[in-house]
Amino acid sequence: MKRTTFRISAPLFDRLERHLFPGDHDEHGAVIAASVAETKHGTRCLAREVILARDGVDYVPGRFGYRALTGEFVARASNHCARERLGYFAVHCHGGQDSVSFSSTDTESHERGYPALLDITNGGPVGALVFARNAVAGEIWTSTGVNKLDSMTVIGLNSRCLYPHLPKPRGICDETYHRQSLMFGAVGQHYLAQSKVGIIGLGGVGSLVNEYLARLGVGEIVAVDFDKVERSNRSRIVNSRCADSCDWLRYSSFRPLRRLGDRLAKQKVRIAERVAKEANPNINFQALVGDVTELNIARAFRDTDFLFLCADSMQSRLVFNALVHQYLIPGIQIGSKVPTNKTTGNLGNVFSAARLILPFRGGGCLLCNELIPAAKLQDEALSPEERHRQRYVEDQLVNAPSVITLNAVGTAQATNDFLFHFLGLFDDTHARLGYLMHYPCERTWRSTECRADTGCLHCDTSSHGVYARGDRASLPCKCKAQPAEGPSFTLFRL
Ligand SMILES: [Zn+2]
Ligand SMILES: [Zn+2]
Repeated sequence: MKRTTFRISAPLFDRLERHLFPGDHDEHGAVIAASVAETKHGTRCLAREVILARDGVDYVPGRFGYRALTGEFVARASNHCARERLGYFAVHCHGGQDSVSFSSTDTESHERGYPALLDITNGGPVGALVFARNAVAGEIWTSTGVNKLDSMTVIGLNSRCLYPHLPKPRGICDETYHRQSLMFGAVGQHYLAQSKVGIIGLGGVGSLVNEYLARLGVGEIVAVDFDKVERSNRSRIVNSRCADSCDWLRYSSFRPLRRLGDRLAKQKVRIAERVAKEANPNINFQALVGDVTELNIARAFRDTDFLFLCADSMQSRLVFNALVHQYLIPGIQIGSKVPTNKTTGNLGNVFSAARLILPFRGGGCLLCNELIPAAKLQDEALSPEERHRQRYVEDQLVNAPSVITLNAVGTAQATNDFLFHFLGLFDDTHARLGYLMHYPCERTWRSTECRADTGCLHCDTSSHGVYARGDRASLPCKCKAQPAEGPSFTLFRL
């Protein structure tokens, strides 16, 4: 079934909510400028800006209804949306709580105004949202038809969902999930079963995340990895077997057999699929063989509810960070590092990191926090020959130390963060944003505050940035057609 939903960051929503419900129990108005993500599962509207209508100036007693936006305000806001290639959504509020719907005057005004607005905004979408406390209803007009809004997701440290009417409480859930549902209820278990989560990279880190998500009862996983399993991965990949890496062929002294072994070895995503289906036979598992820096692969993550970045290339960090901010999908980057002194061979300060990234300024953007250095991106974009010429350190990712217990610390923290965020279990007064780092040599956890740069191309709403632009901006993926002189990588293409 196709669904029509809205996504908005918590800071933007709080600003709108304060304007609509200042405590005077009166009606107030605003406009949300939003982009869209269209997939075969439906339409997601992505809020980029909120334009507040001043009471008595932009929002005045109406000719047809109690109050209305002035013609001048509508013209100004809709022209702004058209210039920015965004959809226009008029917002007002009603009284009451947990349930809301348009009045007949509201609906009549939509029919009078929206066909023309669709023209002005070049196909919109356009529409209207009406809020009550803890409820929202909406009508979304596109050139192909009118759809009712199913729900709105507000993304803060806790994720929160608003509906036109509160969903009916759920009864008891499957016995498999009985013990965990004692913590978050049958409703929480139902939300997990409805969720779609993306995992980028199914090596040591991603394989653990996959196992945890499947056992929690997540309904749908989209997983991508280009690699096949090797003997040296088996110390870290959950449920990988000797037969998967075809050791007896790959370590043969006969070359054709070694080649055959390389061909027959199992893809890492296929092992993840087996693990997930053994944990939950009802799971919908989408296994993608490829690289998230390829456009068709990156686009498969556009309608996920949460993203895990478990690959350690700078290019995948860039695409992940763009997906988080451009499509308003919260995510976590997980990694561990084992630094060693090259001359003495001594162990440095080992750490595991779980970096939560929420789609708003100061939410942990990897670009703002210098975790995607341009120099490293350029190194990765070089062809192997070019890299060799520049004496690039031989493949650091493959030869870096890696230990399952270090991965487990970061992945458990990260998957727990997903669970608490998605089910709204964080304590609003005490829980803080920021990255969490574990230093096993010191036996300590530390949190790092996150920076936000003005004019950031991913998390800021400056007009050249991609924030909440959804399908209307390009993802920073490799071009399909490679130019003759070598691979090209478009860094910040709009
Ligand atoms: Zn109304
Ligand atoms: Zn940023």
